[in-house]
Amino acid sequence: MRRSVLVTGAASGIGQGIAERLASDGHQVGVLDRNHDSSHATVERITSAGGSALALIADVTLEAEIHKQVAAFAAWSGGIDGLVNNAGGFTSSDTIDRTTAQEWDDVMAHNLRGPFLCTRAVVDHLRRSPCARVVNIASVAARTAIPGSSLPYSAAKAGLLGFTRRISVELAPDGIAVNAVAPGVVDTDRVRSLHGESLAAIRESVPAGRLANVEEIAAMVAFLLGPDAGYLVGATLDVNGGRVPV
Ligand code: NAD
Repeated sequence: MRRSVLVTGAASGIGQGIAERLASDGHQVGVLDRNHDSSHATVERITSAGGSALALIADVTLEAEIHKQVAAFAAWSGGIDGLVNNAGGFTSSDTIDRTTAQEWDDVMAHNLRGPFLCTRAVVDHLRRSPCARVVNIASVAARTAIPGSSLPYSAAKAGLLGFTRRISVELAPDGIAVNAVAPGVVDTDRVRSLHGESLAAIRESVPAGRLANVEEIAAMVAFLLGPDAGYLVGATLDVNGGRVPV
């Protein structure tokens, strides 16, 4: 069944991989991102491969922009069946002394306010869908304490799992299944530029001995969005190569 799915942060990295996977599965994809050029480039890649996608330019922390783009996507696609809250990330702050209040607020906004605003903006559309899903992209940083990692990021992603559980029980009676994916370190351009030579040490710390690739995360998201996952509610899929949650 062809569905319409909005993916935030879909212009690069994991979000782009999710958008491409969903389009190759035959779904209509909303490529929502604050980066205009990369969003259009992603849509171009999808459409030239025979898929169906629309570029939607918005910052997920800004309510008015989100509402405008959700309305545009619904008008283009004829309805919304799924939302992937993927936009997020962190600054370089690590210790509590080096984390400013501004960084804290920014990381919370990107990783928590964004998913809240986007979910609220699409929920009435989802209530009308026969196969309604929300997938929140959390992180291994929400599941285990990683020394030296961004402090507000760990807190925000753990908050996203709390949001997932809480909203899943509210929306399950409406036929909307809400779940999360918590990836380990994924081989993206951003990760390669951020970690550089320390990537080898990260690889060694993973029982599977390697980073995840974007396609492996996209496959989990595609499963959660599909008809086989309708009775999975409020769950977190740890896709981390064996890093044990604590
Ligand atoms: P990325 O930086 O490669 O891509 C993020 C995309 O989101 C970019 O296109 C960016 O323009 C967009 N974006 C960022 N903030 C936005 C905002 N406020 N509004 C609209 N668009 C915005 O990131 P990535 O590595 O692909 O990560 C994607 C998600 O996966 C994030 O939530 C991240 O926390 C999570 N994650 C990543 C990894 C990893 O190793 N890459 C691991 C675990 C979890």
